[in-house]
Amino acid sequence: MKELNFKQELTAAFGQPISENPTQVMVEAAYRHHNLDWRYLTIEVSPEELESAVLGAKAMGFRGFNCTIPHKVKVIEYLDGLGESASLMKAVSCVVQKDGLWIGENTDGKGFISSLQEITDPMDKKIVIFGAGGAARAISVEVALSGAASITIVNRSILRGEELTTLLTDKLPCSADFVSWEGTYSIPSDTDVVINATSIGLFPDFEARLDYNPDSLLSRMVVADVIPNPPSTPFVREARKKGCKAIDGLGMLVSQGVIGIQHWTGMKPDSAVMRKALEEVFD
Ligand code: NDP
Repeated sequence: MKELNFKQELTAAFGQPISENPTQVMVEAAYRHHNLDWRYLTIEVSPEELESAVLGAKAMGFRGFNCTIPHKVKVIEYLDGLGESASLMKAVSCVVQKDGLWIGENTDGKGFISSLQEITDPMDKKIVIFGAGGAARAISVEVALSGAASITIVNRSILRGEELTTLLTDKLPCSADFVSWEGTYSIPSDTDVVINATSIGLFPDFEARLDYNPDSLLSRMVVADVIPNPPSTPFVREARKKGCKAIDGLGMLVSQGVIGIQHWTGMKPDSAVMRKALEEVFD
């Protein structure tokens, strides 16, 4: 008979559904595939309880955690340090314990780069990014750190677009400019990579189109879309029809999961298993 030991333990009575978050499904599929006796739980935390939740994670021996909006900025106050891109973006998506210290990383942009590198290297490339929100910020900082030659931010809100462009020109070794997105945008013909980092195309508005001139999209350009659900957005479909190489938002999500698991466990998980688990969720 197995000896039961109730010393120094708290057992949780968990009142939330724990298996509905797509990231959880994906990460736990990797844990099972690699016979890791780990769990990845989705826990809702209110802004007022964030500090207690971080202290709780430390006290309960968590190896780390992901955090989403609205905690990505505020969580920094409760950590011991930041990785390079998280420090530039002032936003954390993944926390990892390193040598007893709690370090905030930003895996959003790194996941994007890892997915992009399957078809092209951003080094020395001319990049156009639609959007200036959290995803665009993470992607543009990481693309600049990867040696992009220039970045054009195309955004509807001038304030957000200019703010991001200023961050890029002031803090990163690449040239950046801002185009206010009014009416149909024509992609400059010397562009190498075009990225949709807006929420246009996200479920349930999945037939929404970016307002750009389709004739300006050339087959030599690489196209990337951040929308994971559904992954086959009108932009990705149009690009493939033109003969462009295109990556979808699922690749970025999977790569972020891979990087998180590497941070926490030290092992590189099988990305194909994780993508399959996600595809089943979004099916
Ligand atoms: P934000 O709300 O921070 O930014 C949204 C961006 O989309 C802004 O630039 C906004 O422009 C623009 N936008 C929204 N609607 C329109 C419209 N109708 N016309 C023009 N521009 C529009 O969101 P995030 O940056 O955090 O997320 C953006 C998308 O990225 C989401 O769909 C999310 O699902 C996806 N994402 C995917 C990830 C992945 O791993 N695949 C990871 C993170 C995010 P404006 O500033 O003018 O309002």
